Amino acid sequence: MMNIPLNGKVCVVTGAASGIGKRIAEVYAHNGGKVVIADLKLDAAEATAQAIRDAGGEALGVEMDVTNEQQVVDGIAKAVATFGQVDVLVSNAGIQIINKITDFKFEDWKKMLAIHLDGAFLTTRECMKDMERRKAPGAIILMGSVHSHLASPLKAPYVTAKHGLLGLARTIAKEGGPLGIRSNVICPGFVRTPLVDKQIPEQAKEFGISEDEVIKKIMLKDTVDGEFTTVDDVANVALTLAAFETNALTGQSIVVSHGWFMQ
Ligand code: NAD
Repeated sequence: MMNIPLNGKVCVVTGAASGIGKRIAEVYAHNGGKVVIADLKLDAAEATAQAIRDAGGEALGVEMDVTNEQQVVDGIAKAVATFGQVDVLVSNAGIQIINKITDFKFEDWKKMLAIHLDGAFLTTRECMKDMERRKAPGAIILMGSVHSHLASPLKAPYVTAKHGLLGLARTIAKEGGPLGIRSNVICPGFVRTPLVDKQIPEQAKEFGISEDEVIKKIMLKDTVDGEFTTVDDVANVALTLAAFETNALTGQSIVVSHGWFMQ
């Protein structure tokens, strides 16, 4: 884990009870951030927050379905009531549903866009309001993907939503610029989390190949070294973006993928 002091910055991380979000929250807390663990279920969010507190950090668990406007409004209000402000948002909550376009259920399409796009918009709006109220700078970090830049079969809504986040980040960067509110998208390659572990057998079935072939011939085929990206790799980039001090680094996407996609 990298060490860059966050000096008490208040950091809201959505989808922080598992995988990438959980590691970002742990790394932020380790570096002196006060973290708000926002996730679907309060007990899961609180369990992550408690583990951080047990390790000597400051953390609050909040129940938040990022597609539910009222829960987002209430969750960010609770973060502000507890820690006084929000300095950093990591809009990270996400799921994956894979299918061919011709087999995709409309409700699954809408669910994917709601979590990835509505969730990013609602959490951004509430956190930016707090920054604007205080006339303070901040960092809005959106969790994109290599699929913010390229497409894969079976992933139409995921690819569409992850591309859309680039537009949102650039708009946040323009509107937030005068106050020093920076916005960037992190674009990881494949990371072994529950989200990816679920896809391996699903893709094997859909393409009629073995799980090992899904990993080697699909997921890691175009990396420079055949390696998965790790939660620590992504958390270190999130730490850098949270601590970065000026608008020099805004409106960008940072690809963390073992060279799978080079821009
Ligand atoms: P994960 O399944 O380990 O964790 C996702 C978390 O999001 C879970 O805790 C889940 O409860 C939460 N969540 C789901 N729906 C939610 C909602 N509506 N409101 C609030 N929380 C919700 O997944 P992960 O791999 O850590 O993925 C995190 C993010 O990283 C996602 O946006 C994903 O698209 C992105 N990403 C993952 C990979 C990868 O390979 N794992 C690669 C690129 C991008």
